[in-house]
Amino acid sequence: MSGLEEFLAGQLAQIEAAGLKRTLRTLESAQGPEILCDGRRVWNFSSNDYLGLAAHPRLREAAAEVLAESGTGSGASRLICGNHLEHERLEETLAHFKRSEVALSFSTGYAAALGVIPALAGEGDVIILDKLCHACLVDGARLSGAVLRVFPHNNLDKLESHLRWAREKYPQARVLVLLESVYSMDGDCAPLREIVELKERYGAWLVTDEAHAVGVIGDHGRGLAEECGMASLVEVQMGTLGKALGSAGAYVCGSAALREFLINRARSFIFSTAPAPHTAAASRAAVEIMLSDEGETLRRKLWSNIEKLGTALKLGKLQSAILPVIIGEETVAMERSARLLQKGFLVPAIRYPTVARGSARLRVTLTAAHDEAALQQLLNALAEE
Ligand SMILES: *Cc1c(COP(=O)(O)O)cnc(C)c1O
Repeated sequence: MSGLEEFLAGQLAQIEAAGLKRTLRTLESAQGPEILCDGRRVWNFSSNDYLGLAAHPRLREAAAEVLAESGTGSGASRLICGNHLEHERLEETLAHFKRSEVALSFSTGYAAALGVIPALAGEGDVIILDKLCHACLVDGARLSGAVLRVFPHNNLDKLESHLRWAREKYPQARVLVLLESVYSMDGDCAPLREIVELKERYGAWLVTDEAHAVGVIGDHGRGLAEECGMASLVEVQMGTLGKALGSAGAYVCGSAALREFLINRARSFIFSTAPAPHTAAASRAAVEIMLSDEGETLRRKLWSNIEKLGTALKLGKLQSAILPVIIGEETVAMERSARLLQKGFLVPAIRYPTVARGSARLRVTLTAAHDEAALQQLLNALAEE
């Protein structure tokens, strides 16, 4: 067994030498615009808690009530004895929110992707994905055993040539297109209308991951598919409950047959303990806020913050709450992030393998909970860089 420690030390030395060593920070506060991080109070510009719901009293109350009633654990998978009334209530509320026939919840977005994609495509099928798709979509696609084709980010011509190729080479195959609606490291949107048109023309199915769009984009934060009027044409709409919705877990929205099929075929759903009932209750409270005037007020506040920072940084019209400040070199991005942290701003550097080598960046994320003073101080700190 001594060989393992040697192997690990060698690998870690290589990671460190490449400037790619990752370490954990420790929080001792709730999520919010200011957090207690490694013992210091800092401005938080790194959270995906876009609407500030993670510490919202209504989510806390909803969770606490169910926690007192139902305890901490769900005991088994949904198919054994873990399917609590709270999961069903959450799924009904999600389907209503997303205006889809039904919803199915998963324990995380990552698990949803790993369950859904291999359930829908396998050996002999074709999966076509955008180059910037999140790791969970890439991993789900690889796990499926399908033939994979990647198109350059948002490149419709190349997507079309892959679709044509798939139809000619594998006339009987299921063809799946995987997209994010808002790309998580660049903050830009997919040209969804055009992609829906293409996948319809070639008889492919579309899976969209709305992780950074739900709660942020579209009427009441229903997402990009809804905003483009395309929701009814997207076969599988996925999203996380852990970002703008301030809780944990994920959803898949689609037809009743899709839900029934996934309950039977999505392995990450079948072979995993159900999320705790109080987590589902918190998620449902979040969706109810999204449907309320308060949700719209929070979303407007978020967009006003996005516009202010976008204008000040001359980034043009921003499409989401993610503002990438591209640096290039991994070590330079790390140094700038470390200097900002010293000044009291948590702005993470994102680097390979999360983004391509040489495209390291500072990734600023804004929330509705940031006030004018926080934005101004960040701008001052960035200007000094
Ligand atoms: C965060 C994220 C996920 C994963 O969702 P979790 O619920 O955090 O597991 C999936 N896709 C995208 C695009 C994400 O940004």
